[in-house]
Amino acid sequence: MQCPERVDNWIDGAPRPAAGGGTLPVVEPATGRVISRLAASGAGDVDAAQAAAARAFPAWSAIGAPARAERLERLAQLVERDLERLAGLESADSGKPLALARSVDIPRAAANLRFFADAVRAWRPDEDLRAPHAVSRVIRRPSGVAGCISPWNLPLYLFTWKVAPALAAGCTVVGKPSEETPLTAAAFAELSAEAGFPPGVLNVVQGRGAECGAAIVAHPGIPTISFTGGTETGARIMSVAGPMFKSVALELGGKNPTIVLDDCDLDAAVVGAVRAAFQNQGQICLCGSRVLVARDLYPRFRDAFVERALALRIGDPLDPATEQGSLVSEAHRTKVSAAVERARAEGGRVLCGGRAPDPASLPERVRGGAYYLPTVIEGLPMACATNQEEIFGPVATIQPFDGDEDAVRLANESAFGLAASVWTGDHARGMRVAERLESGIVWINAWLLRDLRVPFGGMKRSGLGREGGDEALRFFTEPKSITWPA
Ligand code: NDP
Repeated sequence: MQCPERVDNWIDGAPRPAAGGGTLPVVEPATGRVISRLAASGAGDVDAAQAAAARAFPAWSAIGAPARAERLERLAQLVERDLERLAGLESADSGKPLALARSVDIPRAAANLRFFADAVRAWRPDEDLRAPHAVSRVIRRPSGVAGCISPWNLPLYLFTWKVAPALAAGCTVVGKPSEETPLTAAAFAELSAEAGFPPGVLNVVQGRGAECGAAIVAHPGIPTISFTGGTETGARIMSVAGPMFKSVALELGGKNPTIVLDDCDLDAAVVGAVRAAFQNQGQICLCGSRVLVARDLYPRFRDAFVERALALRIGDPLDPATEQGSLVSEAHRTKVSAAVERARAEGGRVLCGGRAPDPASLPERVRGGAYYLPTVIEGLPMACATNQEEIFGPVATIQPFDGDEDAVRLANESAFGLAASVWTGDHARGMRVAERLESGIVWINAWLLRDLRVPFGGMKRSGLGREGGDEALRFFTEPKSITWPA
């Protein structure tokens, strides 16, 4: 894969190195090689990006939804045109299988852009209300410069999930991808110029979260912050943005239950639960990392689940047959490995995995990669740290339950509340369980089945606010009511 030698910021329609001149290495985690250098930006770069975005805002917010939608649509076409290049960058940067980047990450980025182009064309943000004594018009206008901060696990997919509704609604953007995976956001910013976005409408600042990410959050000229990332980072962001009365949307971590009821189609549930636990090496906020199984079914399900986890093909992300690539970094592998050691110390029985693969079992090109085997652990109580803290790697725990009541109780015994899936042969029963789960998203007999119109986000420590559909367009606008006597 041909990677750019340097990844600069994109400010006011042009590439710009960090004002301080500093750079950071960009590492390909599957090989451990440095593949590029990234601008290490700071508050001065964020100031420049914000100033460009503020200059561009009056014209961009005024051109109207159809003109904004047309550019988003063109950008979607360019992402599709460059699918191979973008998928290659995404895979090299994150360690995920190229086949996954090709079939999920990049097509979904294009779909996000097209979805919000269509959504804003159809959106009627203004509303007239009549009462016997008063007539009102409620208008919604874009809220100004939006800060969009995204994580490393689904880099372009989640970056566009924020940037597309912000731009569609008429905001201008200062975006920041994770320093771990900067390549596709940089390529995307260049494509935005080709798609006809005026300079300053989309700006991308690259570098460390604690420096330029924090500078975006603290900037008084960025009133709206959309963040996806870890719960602790979300709390830090709230502590800065709260006293500044910014609008904040936080999509944070998860510790999601997969609930397997005794009347399910066992084969389908095993396939679904393994996919939910291990897709993208378990590095998806929606991954089902706590598998709860009806006691009667438990031994059969557990054995089939472990067998399928063992059969996942681990290999070079470039090999089309690879199902499990590398974790995002060596540092992250160290964290995952420590979490598994803690599970052992808590009394968990490791049924498969529980270590990095033997390098000799990997293709030569990736022997230095940050690989970790899909891991299944049983025998832990729900209250232990392994079941309570997000690991964000290829690690799932499995435990039996006694009846639907018990399943709901165990599922809700978590400080998180992002997603859940329920496997059952009885839809009405699935609905009864779903309604009682403390979770922003519930799937029945599915996982990661998305309709981009439905609200997306979590309860409890999984976040604040919802993305998706009109919720996202509303988030990037301010309502104003104007009232006069009837
Ligand atoms: P982090 O919270 O570490 O980082 C997320 C983003 O925030 C990155 O761009 C990061 O930059 C930046 N950042 C870090 N510190 C700050 C700060 N003080 N102020 C502003 N920005 C900052 O999360 P990860 O990247 O490690 O992503 C994994 C986490 O994201 C998991 O907890 C996962 O559950 C969650 N997630 C949630 C999703 C959801 O929709 N609910 C979806 C996907 C992931 P940098 O990386 O350069 O430090």
